Amino acid sequence: MMTAIHLRNTGMGSVVPSPKYVRNNAMPRLNILAMARKRIQTRQVQSKAKRDNGKQPREENEKWSCVSGCGACCKLAKGPSFAPPEDIFMDVDDIVLYWSMTGPDGWCVNYDKINRTCSIYSERPYFCRVEPDVFKKLYGINEKNFNKEACGSCRDTIKNVYGSISSELENFNKAITKTRTN
Ligand code: SF4
Ligand code: SF4
Repeated sequence: MMTAIHLRNTGMGSVVPSPKYVRNNAMPRLNILAMARKRIQTRQVQSKAKRDNGKQPREENEKWSCVSGCGACCKLAKGPSFAPPEDIFMDVDDIVLYWSMTGPDGWCVNYDKINRTCSIYSERPYFCRVEPDVFKKLYGINEKNFNKEACGSCRDTIKNVYGSISSELENFNKAITKTRTN
């Protein structure tokens, strides 16, 4: 992730909005629409429930921020619940690059596991950058939805790598809370 508006720290690999968004061709777009519709319906139900309790839904106020010491998205072989690069990238060079970066243990070969940082941070590929333009290009996500979707994608990725009960997820949620827009 490198023009890094928010990227202040660790290695950040591809944060894939699993498996909700895939590339903009005809077949996956059906999935996008189906998932988007489901997500909206779920959100409407959640919003009403929260309103009924006098609370606002948390995600509406979130501003995405990367968290130092996480690195979950640098695990590139994410498993079957995440869209594979073949379903995300239109350019075959991106697919080849993605797999060439994937080590035998599933982690990016450029990821420094001891320090949890990217060893090529200033030169990392565009798809490693969590930015509105990248989310728009790869997943068709509008800028106004960027923060919400980036936060959701990070949570999914962190849960997948470190688990739902993990210090990494706790740290992320705390960081997001601190950067809420209101
Ligand atoms: S190049 Fe590798 S280590 Fe660096 S941000 Fe991308 S996935 Fe992470
Ligand atoms: S999963 Fe999110 S918080 Fe963790 S390193 Fe990647 S971009 Fe940062």
